[in-house]
Amino acid sequence: MNAEAERLHSLTQLEILGTPASESFDRITRLASKIFNLPIAAVSLTDSDRQWFKSRVGVEHWSIPREKAPCSQVAETCGVVIIEDFLADPFYSDSLLAKAGIRFYAGAPLVTRDGFGLGAMCVLGMTPRRIHREELTALRDLAATVMAQIELQHAFGRIDPISELPNRTQFIEDLSDLARDQTPGQRRTAVLVDLIAVDQMNHVVRVMGQAVVDDMVKTAGRLFRHLIGPQQKAYHVGATQLAALTPDGMDEIACSNFLTAQAERLRKLGGPHALGSTVVGIAPFPLGGLPPIDILRIAQGAALDARSMNKSFEIYSQALDTASQRSFILLRDFEAALKNPVELRLVYQPRIDLATGRCVGAEALMRWTHPTLGSISPGEFIPLIERIALATPATAWVLETAISQIARWRNHGIDFVVSVNISSTNLHETDFASRVSQILVRHGVEPEWLELEVTETAVMTDAAQALVQLSKLRAAGIRLAIDDFGTGYSSLAYLQRLPVHVVKIDRAFMMGLDVDPRQLSLVTMMVSMAKHLGYRVVAEGVETQQALKLLRTTGCDEAQGYHFARPMAADELVRWVGRDPIAL
Ligand code: C2E
Ligand code: MG
Ligand code: MG
Repeated sequence: MNAEAERLHSLTQLEILGTPASESFDRITRLASKIFNLPIAAVSLTDSDRQWFKSRVGVEHWSIPREKAPCSQVAETCGVVIIEDFLADPFYSDSLLAKAGIRFYAGAPLVTRDGFGLGAMCVLGMTPRRIHREELTALRDLAATVMAQIELQHAFGRIDPISELPNRTQFIEDLSDLARDQTPGQRRTAVLVDLIAVDQMNHVVRVMGQAVVDDMVKTAGRLFRHLIGPQQKAYHVGATQLAALTPDGMDEIACSNFLTAQAERLRKLGGPHALGSTVVGIAPFPLGGLPPIDILRIAQGAALDARSMNKSFEIYSQALDTASQRSFILLRDFEAALKNPVELRLVYQPRIDLATGRCVGAEALMRWTHPTLGSISPGEFIPLIERIALATPATAWVLETAISQIARWRNHGIDFVVSVNISSTNLHETDFASRVSQILVRHGVEPEWLELEVTETAVMTDAAQALVQLSKLRAAGIRLAIDDFGTGYSSLAYLQRLPVHVVKIDRAFMMGLDVDPRQLSLVTMMVSMAKHLGYRVVAEGVETQQALKLLRTTGCDEAQGYHFARPMAADELVRWVGRDPIAL
């Protein structure tokens, strides 16, 4: 990730953008306005292309464009910015703020512990002004207070109030971050300590009260932190369960050696009431290879196994079961596949215009032939690589390959719009639209020949960000489609705000079209609503003549599916299209 992407990531992680106004921030903003005796003050966060106000006094808007906003400079440099007079400033004199009559600005940076600038605590005035040293100190103090508030709110819900350790939510979040930031497929080990058996705990609660168990967990948390050392983070992941990740390089064998050496301390971890009943589960896993929640689950499973076998710890070996072994191999090998032209290729599935029966476009779909595992479906490897940092180079490869194919077809006078599937990760890359445009220019392809498909779910994971990226792509002249429509939780009313041209109805809706009349009504309604909102509608997964016949009654514009053709190689598609139009 580049520095700006990392900065944006740390801002997103805090989950503050778009949250409602809160008195704890407004109090600070009011104070700032009062101290400076200025009409405008704000807590302003620097998003990819806007300044968003968590709190503001004297401004109506919730956000302004980032371009030439001094708060953006504060965030980028992590330094104070003072503009004594906008009109005398060569850079800011023609900014939006200057045009709105602002003459003075002072902003102190909001900096995270990791050194990322999130935005500014700022004050603004309508007349030129200077700033005194004490005022500057006050502004910095206010910025620090805002930061403390942001971090406090973030920690809320992530720290267990009894043990004061980060909780299960934090454990899962940290595992996801690790999968994204480190080498995919790298082996790591999770350790889960279960202090006391459930029935034993219930007994203690009944006889001595909950406070005794709370004390036990608190003390155990402290001892556990000592045991694993200051470099490792300890978590409190279940009522009487603690967890940690081993240091990089400590595999399950080294981990069990360590635990054997610490057997005596381990035995006493739960204090007198749990004496001897503490067990440990060890779960080795490949980074990015398993969803974090599963890693926790297999570590818990291993601890249970240890308890039932009267052992003090157990390594979950079976859990590196076939599925995760396979994920591990796929993750490890995908990067190499991107560089090896014989492993990856694109196939194209035609899209048929239902009015004319002609092929008007094709969807590019990835195919991977793994050297030992053979053909791997994108349905399997795409979700895997999307969990780690490989979706970016994968999309880059697909775009490069598909666009060079469009160029070749256009040179032979073949006009198809080619659609390419992109990942939700791509919507978070601030330079995505410009990179796509560069590839088009390099191959001399006009943007209207490319369509990008993004799933409804990918859009909904961060709708605000998706809107920004999709708008940029649309402005660049690229066609956009919502894929797998109807499978997520959004509504057409919501999607209406997105600048897309095409809605692709998921193939699940085509199944049973010919047996269930309600299914047909549903599809008819979806098509008619989407068309009313101005979209071109494509049905995916049309498998039979009967489904096609019914589909045509709904007014759907285009269809795609095995009934017409399976995905095929580029030259095969040319031959296929050369045939007569499909009889409808
Ligand atoms: P999708 O984008 O919805 O693509 C349509 C999938 O439905 C394709 O599966 C296609 O082969 C399959 N299909 C087409 N017609 C029919 C039919 O009549 N019946 C049935 N049962 N299936 C049909 P495929 O190629 O296995 O791709 C699966 C998914 O993987 C795609 O769903 C897409 O989400 C993802 N994918 C494929 N290639 C790429 C890629 O290059 N990049 C990204 N990010 N995702 C990709
Ligand atoms: Mg698709
Ligand atoms: Mg689809």
